[in-house]
Amino acid sequence: MEAIQLIFGEHDMTWQKRANCMGVDPELFYPERGASTKEAKSVCKGCVVREECLEYAIITGEKFGIWGGMSERERRRIRRARSLIRPRTVTKVTAS
Ligand code: SF4
Repeated sequence: MEAIQLIFGEHDMTWQKRANCMGVDPELFYPERGASTKEAKSVCKGCVVREECLEYAIITGEKFGIWGGMSERERRRIRRARSLIRPRTVTKVTAS
């Protein structure tokens, strides 16, 4: 089993075959701190698997790079927002 399967579990990863960034220099998607992400995001903009890519990065907690047209900071905001709307666990309280 490949590492990517261990991380992503049973999720369908075939979307990667349709990625707009296939053949593009990967360094474009991992810019130096403070460098522009504009070029990478422009590749993502027309990508047909942008949603799948973004979801993958969010659920695996990808810490670096541009995924689904978003930076880590932008993805972190989504993760935070999701955690705020996740239903809380209700603990049943019984009288003793
Ligand atoms: S959204 Fe961007 S990083 Fe993700 S597969 Fe498409 S081109 Fe690549």
